[in-house]
Amino acid sequence: MFTALLLEETNEGLSAAVTELDDDRLPDGDVTVAVEYSSLNYKDGMVLNGIGRLVRNYPHVPGVDLAGTVTASTDARFAAGDHVICTGWRVGEAWWGGYASKACLKADWLVKVPESMTTRQSMAVGTAGFTAMQALVALETHGLTPGDPLLVTGASGGVGSAAVLWAGLAGHHVVASTGRPENGDELKELGATEIIDRSELADNPSRPLLSERWAGCIDAVGGDPLAHVLAEMRSGGSVAACGLVAGNALNTTVIPFLLRGVNLLGIDSVMAGTDERLRVWGRIAEVMDAEKLESLTTEIGLADLSDAADKILAGQTRGRLVVNPSVV
Ligand code: NDP
Repeated sequence: MFTALLLEETNEGLSAAVTELDDDRLPDGDVTVAVEYSSLNYKDGMVLNGIGRLVRNYPHVPGVDLAGTVTASTDARFAAGDHVICTGWRVGEAWWGGYASKACLKADWLVKVPESMTTRQSMAVGTAGFTAMQALVALETHGLTPGDPLLVTGASGGVGSAAVLWAGLAGHHVVASTGRPENGDELKELGATEIIDRSELADNPSRPLLSERWAGCIDAVGGDPLAHVLAEMRSGGSVAACGLVAGNALNTTVIPFLLRGVNLLGIDSVMAGTDERLRVWGRIAEVMDAEKLESLTTEIGLADLSDAADKILAGQTRGRLVVNPSVV
């Protein structure tokens, strides 16, 4: 038997309940994992609220992230006792995910938890923190160097706060944009050098080019703020586009690309291949500061998820939420 948050479709919409299930309800995979931690990402908020038709088959166990200990494996790459992470690959959408005490997964989706990290820390990172590091690596590959002004939007959220942390630890000059100035001191503790109010970036400017401000940007919000940032990029600068909380439409001109050689880099954590995952987790382990990571982390249980899902969609959560499936 295992415990899971089970989503079911009813005539009134979706219902979520913490349920005991037989092991034979698990999907067929190569590796069975005793889940120790999961996390809450923006996409989990969408799944828990039935937004975007991400889940097609119910009943469903959500949770796009999980980390735990292998209990059985038919794949030579993993053995009982290994500590593993699964993020992305549409787990928690098209496959039963991490809001459960047990999961059965394809071996191709797993990486081992870096030796210097615990399963809990790996989920404090989770998809959001992985994406933030993917974005930072992409910007560095395109020429961002320490000292260059690096803008992080949606800085109080999961991707944003992890981006502030990683970039600060890597020695970058981080300017954090937030709609919650009361979080400014915490963002500075995490690694931000300057804080700006997100209202500065909110409008889609009428002019295609504004004064040059940013050498790089890790953007978690998309929409008009992304159009604004593109117009403010320095010559040769790059934006890593990660998210869409301010909208998925991008109404802009090609002028920043043509006259300033600006790069718009797409970041996809879900289908990242194993080599890239190992590189990104390796970099995370290299810069990790356990105390700072803990400072942006809140632990919740399975029964807290519905409420937390509403809050993440409303932009009201701070940092990262780790889910402990043994806490109901
Ligand atoms: P969070 O809700 O934790 O963070 C988003 C933050 O954006 C909020 O905390 C808030 O920060 C800010 N924000 C919220 N609403 C608005 C708005 N209307 N306009 C401007 N800023 C706003 O979400 P995550 O960090 O987990 O995810 C962020 C985005 O990244 C989502 O769209 C998600 O789907 C996407 N994502 C993409 C991935 C990929 O692989 N590309 C992987 C993971 C996430 P503040 O109060 O500081 O302004």
